[in-house]
Amino acid sequence: MVASYVQLLAKRYEGKLDSDADEFITYAVDGATRMQQLINALLAYSRVGSRGKNFQLIDCETAFDHAVANLKVAIEESGAVVTHDTLPMMVADNSQIVQLFQNLIGNAIKFRRQEPPRIHLSCAGIEDTAIQIPKSAINKGWVFSVKDNGIGIEPEHVERIFGIFQRLHTREQYSGSGIGLAVCKKIAQRHGGQIWVESKPGEGSTFYFTISKQE
Ligand code: ADP
Repeated sequence: MVASYVQLLAKRYEGKLDSDADEFITYAVDGATRMQQLINALLAYSRVGSRGKNFQLIDCETAFDHAVANLKVAIEESGAVVTHDTLPMMVADNSQIVQLFQNLIGNAIKFRRQEPPRIHLSCAGIEDTAIQIPKSAINKGWVFSVKDNGIGIEPEHVERIFGIFQRLHTREQYSGSGIGLAVCKKIAQRHGGQIWVESKPGEGSTFYFTISKQE
């Protein structure tokens, strides 16, 4: 209601009041729109636990295709090239895996450098990978990685970015509400897994997450 009515005010009265009024209405529209986006993002975060679907056998290739289709506009606009290894079938919540892929690939596009983004999704069994898995992680399941050639992350921030509302940039630099990675963390945890990142500032980042194998 608030967003709709201030938008209506802006549409009907722009130029009819004084310039201060125009400016105030612009701020009100901007604030209300952001409030709406924030509430939607918070709802998405809280629903990872409360509205999660039952786990079923899913094809990660299909989940990847779905995520890429959802990011079609961003991929085309940025000239991103998104590639992937052969991806497994596994027992999981399909829409949450799509969301995980989409958030990580979406970030890899958003936090790009001058050159077109190159993003690669890999997957391996935890038992037969050379990837350093955190000691506390599960030992049966899959480890996925999303590698990009973007702006990278300074070492002191690699943990806090998974917290809710944690952002390293202003809204003017990059859009967003700082909830995407917190959602990813919650989804990985719901699947018995973890999420972490390795990064070289100015060169790129690789986000890893694990998914436990359901018997
Ligand atoms: P948002 O994208 O809305 O800011 P996220 O929770 O998805 O929120 O990400 C939190 C922060 O982590 C981002 O603001 C950004 O600073 C950093 N970040 C996330 N993904 C990447 C990436 N692929 N490359 C560089 N920085 C990243």
